[in-house]
Amino acid sequence: MSHIFCVANQKGGVGKTTTSVNLAAALHQSGQRTLLVDLDPQGNATMGSSIDKRKLTHSIYHLLVGLDALEAVRVASPSGGYDILPSNRDLAGAEIELVNLERREKRLREALDKCAADYDFILIDCPPSLSLLTLNGLCAAHGVIIPMQCEYYALEGLSDLVNSIKKVHANLNHDLKIIGLLRVMFDSRVTLQQQVSAQLESHFGEKVFRTVVPRNVRLAEAPSHGIPGVTFDRSSRGAQAYLAFASELIERVKAL
Ligand code: ATP
Ligand code: MG
Repeated sequence: MSHIFCVANQKGGVGKTTTSVNLAAALHQSGQRTLLVDLDPQGNATMGSSIDKRKLTHSIYHLLVGLDALEAVRVASPSGGYDILPSNRDLAGAEIELVNLERREKRLREALDKCAADYDFILIDCPPSLSLLTLNGLCAAHGVIIPMQCEYYALEGLSDLVNSIKKVHANLNHDLKIIGLLRVMFDSRVTLQQQVSAQLESHFGEKVFRTVVPRNVRLAEAPSHGIPGVTFDRSSRGAQAYLAFASELIERVKAL
């Protein structure tokens, strides 16, 4: 069975795309058949996988509105090794077009049903909002991975996200659960970060992944080369953390 996970947090710039791209590459390197879905019109996961979003003629937009079949949209990432459903700004239009379509929140789910058997993991990089696109992600997934920075406001935003996940679970997708919270861009020298990290552990317990991704410049540099950090500089602390995270996730899903 394939595990379909959204990487979501409605806060912007918290490391969703960095997590999606590096986790996809790390899972691929661990021998897992992996598909990355770029569900963000910004197309950052696409660019970070060495696919030029400006040259796309078939994108996830075409898939969601029914203009293209999956086979026409799916490509292999040359640098990451995994498959990807790429995105660009066309997807921003889909949001408006989808409103008038039938089963508008289930479009991604129906598309992924056709290829789920090809993969061990499908990761969905969500945009920074609780929009119809993110709703499509949550309806298609079995679980949510929430990357977060250990800052005061991060906790505040978390309750909105958790409430949205609960609503989707109750009304649209009974399979949906929170797989875990991933601490990212962590700087252990900052006392506040240590405090928030400890608060997360005491409040969410087992739901907090053991792996902590440090703030690491090599992870930030990799996208400018269009390469996942785990491929760009495998020995960096950031890459090593994502490789460890992939192993932790593979272990965790055995218990699901
Ligand atoms: P958006 O909400 O816009 O989609 P996002 O949540 O996907 O953003 P990213 O794009 O992954 O966030 O990260 C935001 C910025 O932080 C990027 O410039 C990225 O390179 C950098 N970054 C992410 N993780 C790390 C890290 N562990 N160490 C250093 N820089 C990081
Ligand atoms: Mg992003």
